[in-house]
Amino acid sequence: MIKILLYYTYAPIENPEQLVKLQKSVCERLEIKGRILIATEGINGTISGQEQALDQYMAEAMSYPGLADIEWKISDGPEEAFPRLRVVVRDEIVTLGLKKQNADVHLNNKAHYIEPNELLSLYENNDEFTIIDARNEYEARIGKFKNALTPDINSFREFPEFVKSIEHLKDKPVVTYCTGGIRCEKASAYMREQGFTDVRQLHGGIHRYSTETGGKNFEGEMYIFDSRIHTPVNSVNPSVISECIHCRTKVSRYINCCNVTCNKQIIICEDCDKKFEGGCSVYCQQNSRYKN
Ligand SMILES: [Zn+2]
Ligand SMILES: [Zn+2]
Repeated sequence: MIKILLYYTYAPIENPEQLVKLQKSVCERLEIKGRILIATEGINGTISGQEQALDQYMAEAMSYPGLADIEWKISDGPEEAFPRLRVVVRDEIVTLGLKKQNADVHLNNKAHYIEPNELLSLYENNDEFTIIDARNEYEARIGKFKNALTPDINSFREFPEFVKSIEHLKDKPVVTYCTGGIRCEKASAYMREQGFTDVRQLHGGIHRYSTETGGKNFEGEMYIFDSRIHTPVNSVNPSVISECIHCRTKVSRYINCCNVTCNKQIIICEDCDKKFEGGCSVYCQQNSRYKN
């Protein structure tokens, strides 16, 4: 059985290069694929492999100093979730990009967690709160929490710019969320440093919310970073919020445009996929280099 493993931890890593070597050799031996980012601030992995291999992986990773507190998120995966293994050193495990401006966030300013069931209660009780998506536009396009503010950003580096546009919420109750929680650790710390007084971050992200509550009040599906591109979240009151780029039919179906030089991620229905041969436009349809 192929499983997907998501995890992160912010913990000081003294020698990222050394940990890269170690992680590579463990993953190669266990035939694990996917992406692992390592920085002096921590480690972030999205990997796939056989269930037993991932059990072994978790046991071995836990034994590395400083990595004992990782919270693992395991789910079923497709056969070819990731084409290869990439283990690399980065400046940050999620890039806010403030380091170079000497304005980096302090993670000890991160917001308190709100647990999935508590968020569900906020919705059920019609409490006053603003829910903020800390992910990118192309992720929220296929699914988001009900009433969420979704920033029009293409990378997490643009999140600080978005925060400037919501200064009117500084003294209001705010909840942030992302896929698995890693971006909220920084997003919430950043917001608090900008003077937001009542911020909480969804513990474990959409992923854990789906597992623990059935996903009620999540609209559409969750964008994910393996070959499936998206996966259902809500088994209570599911809905579809995204529209086919061509005919505007409501559909949760994401592909990469057939023209590799375009390669835009597009929502497309099956009929239009056939008609445009996987293209986002007639131009791309006619200029696809990999047409069958
Ligand atoms: Zn269509
Ligand atoms: Zn295109």
